[in-house]
Amino acid sequence: MELPGGIIVDQKVCRSFNFKPLTGTLERVISESGFELKSLAEQVTLILVQALDNVAGLTASKELVRSLCSGDRLYLMLQLQALLDPSPQWLTSHCRHCDEKIQFQFEPTSMPVKPAGKDYPDTSILLSSGEVKIRVPSGADEESLASNAQNEQNAMDLLLQLLLSATSHTQNIHTLSQDDLELIDHKLDEMSPQPGTSVSIECPYCSFQQQVNIDHYSWISQSTQDLDEEIHTLAVNYHWSEKDILALPKRRRKHYLELIQRSQGKYQADDFIHASRGEV
Ligand SMILES: [Zn+2]
Repeated sequence: MELPGGIIVDQKVCRSFNFKPLTGTLERVISESGFELKSLAEQVTLILVQALDNVAGLTASKELVRSLCSGDRLYLMLQLQALLDPSPQWLTSHCRHCDEKIQFQFEPTSMPVKPAGKDYPDTSILLSSGEVKIRVPSGADEESLASNAQNEQNAMDLLLQLLLSATSHTQNIHTLSQDDLELIDHKLDEMSPQPGTSVSIECPYCSFQQQVNIDHYSWISQSTQDLDEEIHTLAVNYHWSEKDILALPKRRRKHYLELIQRSQGKYQADDFIHASRGEV
């Protein structure tokens, strides 16, 4: 599989990546990732470290996952969501015109993805104060903002400090002109890979066409109840430990659950037949 952005290895952009086999351990890490970590950015890092086997052949360490650009991290989370649950998701929204509740289907892998621009991941631009180097934001930047920014304006200032580095002078981000800010914004948009974050839907009640923003991370916090029930069923039937059950690839865990269900169905059918013959 390929990232829309990628990492620089030996001065070349490398885009390949692989996930590890999906296991219950990963599902549990995902569902419990919010328990102790302070920010969503840290949660995403933890989940991707657990889920990725490699990026460009390199072990997906915490440092590597933090160095991935924001667009790649979002792209990976969408792929992971689709792998864990390939069925289309049902989402709801309120129509902006008639306020009726609309239900619509959404498939994470169907989101359009803008690939990285030609200057990715960094380039030089000429601002009013001189030349500066600018790079796309990474997971490390997201984590830093989440723990240091106090408000939106402050977050923007911090982000600019992280992404800009002057080549021959000290760049004071407070002296940037409106034209400078627009140029920075334009250059970042052009360079950054970005999965779509909204879908276009038509209201079935009033036919109003509208863009609905999708929260690509809401699935992370979904309940672990199903997983707990599956562990319980397998432990009771096969007497396996929780650790062994969590280590099973998801597909095999589901297969064993099917076998249990089938054999229980068979026994229930047998019981019914015996009972109807007056044998019980
Ligand atoms: Zn409507």
